[in-house]
Amino acid sequence: MSDEKPSNFIRDIVDEDLAAGKRKEIVTRFPPEPSGYLHIGHASAIQISHSIAKDYKGRFHLRFDDTNPEKEEEEFVESIKNDLQWLGADWGDYLYFASDYFDQLYEWAINLVKEGKAYVDDLSPEEMKEYRGSLTEPGKNSPYRDRSVDENLDLLERMKNGEFDEGAKVLRAKIDMAHPNLIMRDPVMYRILKARHHRVGDKWNIYPSYDYAHGQSDAIEGITHSLCTLEFEIHRPLYDWFIENLPVPHKPRQIEFARLNVEYVITSKRMLRQLVEEGYVDGWDDPRMPTVSGFRRRGYTSEAINEFCYRAGVAKRERVNEYALLEYCLRQDLESKAARRMAVLDPIKVVIENFPDEEVEWYDGPNHPSNPEMGTRKVPLTKEIYIERDDFMEDPPKKFFRLGPGREVRLRYACYITCTDVLKDSEGNIVELRATFDPESRGGSTPDGRKVKGTIHWVSAKENVAIETRLYEQLFTTPTPDDLNEGQTFLDNINPNSKKVITSYGEPELKKAKLGDPIQFERKGYYAVDPDSSDEKLVFNQTVGLRDSWGKKNAKPR
Ligand code: ATP
Ligand code: MG
Repeated sequence: MSDEKPSNFIRDIVDEDLAAGKRKEIVTRFPPEPSGYLHIGHASAIQISHSIAKDYKGRFHLRFDDTNPEKEEEEFVESIKNDLQWLGADWGDYLYFASDYFDQLYEWAINLVKEGKAYVDDLSPEEMKEYRGSLTEPGKNSPYRDRSVDENLDLLERMKNGEFDEGAKVLRAKIDMAHPNLIMRDPVMYRILKARHHRVGDKWNIYPSYDYAHGQSDAIEGITHSLCTLEFEIHRPLYDWFIENLPVPHKPRQIEFARLNVEYVITSKRMLRQLVEEGYVDGWDDPRMPTVSGFRRRGYTSEAINEFCYRAGVAKRERVNEYALLEYCLRQDLESKAARRMAVLDPIKVVIENFPDEEVEWYDGPNHPSNPEMGTRKVPLTKEIYIERDDFMEDPPKKFFRLGPGREVRLRYACYITCTDVLKDSEGNIVELRATFDPESRGGSTPDGRKVKGTIHWVSAKENVAIETRLYEQLFTTPTPDDLNEGQTFLDNINPNSKKVITSYGEPELKKAKLGDPIQFERKGYYAVDPDSSDEKLVFNQTVGLRDSWGKKNAKPR
């Protein structure tokens, strides 16, 4: 990522708070709920909070907001940690779980009850909804609102001990049933849930709501700036109410920013989960998924994702970012890092008739065209080779500088060949080409200085490695997959052709490729080893093609 420090409205607030002496140290946090894998929107949220802590030499906390035992799993905790590490967001010693604060939260709830600021309500969920009123109508007080402190204390204790059924009672803050903000109409603080919690087991029969747990967790940890997305803006008065009414050790401040939106990308965990659970994709880390793990498997780098989030910026209002910008950031990063290799994705065989039958000639190919430090590798040429089917045309137009009958091209790193014959099957499909090579052209030029216009990539038909190549298109057919007509769901926008598996051939050097190695298949694009690879079978994912559609039409690169 760029070294310059971004300026944005959140950093302005931080600067003001520091200048005014309100804060000495800046402490931020990322508070994921362990109910799914992280997606690119989370990567943005992580970057915003982490980079502020880092630039201001403060602290960055990772806190799992594990207050909902029904949706949470250990698998998600591990994947989230792994993704943060990969993104470079180091939480150091500051790993927390909201469940660590359950005792403290309960104690504070008792405080509120004692002060007459919270009560146990027996209304059913439906009744509660009815009593809540609407945007245009005030709510009504629950008939249980004026229970005595003693009765409330007793009921709360018994709720905790598991004496009541789920849904029978809740603890509510006593604020104002006529408050213009519906969130403030006696919000629920605790609900009865007899679910086993992934960390605290069966200890609790009641669990705190997000609104109650979140701000207090911030306060306990000494978070100074609690940064979250705009949907929490209407919750802020409640966030502040709890902080004002509880004996918390610190007073954090909540600041909201706009969610990151990207074309073709869905960032709703519910929808992503549905794609996984209903088998539309092959798991959370399917390379078509906008999850951090999906991008990683696809061959995206953390640098590219961070650069993209940086460029997308911190906004107060939502907008949709172009997918092409993300791909631009990726190509910018991969261009300098990726080792060049040759692979033929859609092969057609060429027999070089004047090449000695059993001979293997080894040529040197630089691993990078402009970075000699990346070294070279050996590429074998044999009598039979594969070239890309679309690098040949039987009746080529003038501007086609690749192979055609009687035409000469350069085989990258090796020599010149001229096509002498075209072999077809009974249906007229081209099945094989014949060619001759000029022995004088070994190394890529001839003594007579003759020029060839085209250079194509190729792979020996004998000395190669077979590759299962997975090609991808966008998972959705429209840039705004959750922009729906009546009666539609986002599933109606799924692209049925988003994954295609083909068999390709690569140069032998590809056998050494490891997970995470950035690789360019020359003239084709960037590719990455898939974890499905084994000693028997090499599997590559198409990461992104070479052609850039963003950089060209936008301002010069930063
Ligand atoms: P759900 O869809 O289940 O509400 P979520 O996407 O909000 O989940 P959380 O684990 O609660 O997931 O999110 C952790 C943090 O990431 C929150 O502070 C949230 O504001 C932020 N976040 C979530 N989605 C985005 C997004 N698209 N852009 C930026 N930040 C996001
Ligand atoms: Mg959420």
